[in-house]
Amino acid sequence: MRVLVTGSAGFIGAALTERLLARGDQVQGIDNHNDYYDPSLKEARLARFANHPNYTHLRADLADAEALNRLFREFRPERVANLAAQAGVRYSLKNPQAYAQSNLVGFINILEACRHHKVEHLVYASSSSVYGANRKLPFAVEDAVDHPVSLYAASKKANELMAHTYSHLYDLPTTGLRFFTVYGPWGRPDMSPILFADRIVRGEPIDVFNYGNHSRDFTYIDDIVEGVIRTLDHVAEPDLNYDATQPNPGASNAPYRVYNIGNDQPVQLMHFIELMEQSLGRTVEKRLLPMQPGDVPDTWADVSALRRDVGYTPNTSIEDGVAKFVKWYREYHHIA
Ligand code: NAD
Repeated sequence: MRVLVTGSAGFIGAALTERLLARGDQVQGIDNHNDYYDPSLKEARLARFANHPNYTHLRADLADAEALNRLFREFRPERVANLAAQAGVRYSLKNPQAYAQSNLVGFINILEACRHHKVEHLVYASSSSVYGANRKLPFAVEDAVDHPVSLYAASKKANELMAHTYSHLYDLPTTGLRFFTVYGPWGRPDMSPILFADRIVRGEPIDVFNYGNHSRDFTYIDDIVEGVIRTLDHVAEPDLNYDATQPNPGASNAPYRVYNIGNDQPVQLMHFIELMEQSLGRTVEKRLLPMQPGDVPDTWADVSALRRDVGYTPNTSIEDGVAKFVKWYREYHHIA
């Protein structure tokens, strides 16, 4: 299969690309290598497969519609995994423009290119953050009450709404995956696992928000990649019960789906920190602080819909996942 992976130098995009190449797909990657976090980590991720004969890389921005169209014309992707985005809840309070550029303008360009080049299936990254705070646990897409509490979350909810219009107006099959706190080797330095590991290794205190009462449905990268590939492979049947009278008369019934992709096993953040400390062989002070603006206290994914439709079964325990993450962290940073 010819698969376009956007954000292929990113944490999830690189892991996905590696697995697609391993199973024999032809992969075109695109990434703007922005400096939201250390770009050398992106280069190191890319180095794992940059010379693979079935991989081609383009350094460009999704907001550049012309470059994107040229790429679609030349590569003619059958499936697209859109993982490029400006990620991060806290940064969206500081730099909202970056979210508009990558997550809105960039996403429209992806939708337009997929529509005009008749892509068979667009799978794109949404986020658990669209649910918002104080929601019934576990989170289920079917509950359909989303209250994004950050611009990042709002941009991901907007992606779901935008994809919906392209599915029903232009017959474009789209699937949104709401990722839940992904962790593992080659992870993101702005996310808690690496932030905690850095602090523990340096013997510095860890800031724990919401006075340590957070829980997160940490999901191991290999489980996520398996789920994304199963989703890419599965183009849902058109929904014959689709109500074409609303919101748009005469709309098609092209498949439009949104799923949770999590672990269905939330972990108390304090327990996660303890596991990291055990694995790194050192304990540090925890500074208990109030909740941060835009943050949510708990996340927990109901994954039954993705299990039912594509056989998604996350099976990495938090203990194994943390051990594998720490092994990589030590090697990457040359820590004995
Ligand atoms: P990441 O930041 O590591 O990867 C995103 C990549 O996209 C980066 O390499 C970046 O350079 C690239 N990029 C950003 N804007 C771009 C643009 N306009 N044009 C081209 N490239 C651009 O993030 P990740 O953790 O791999 O996340 C992948 C996707 O999953 C993102 O959409 C993110 O919002 C979503 N997500 C991730 C998590 C998680 O826990 N990691 C949770 C929820 C949602």
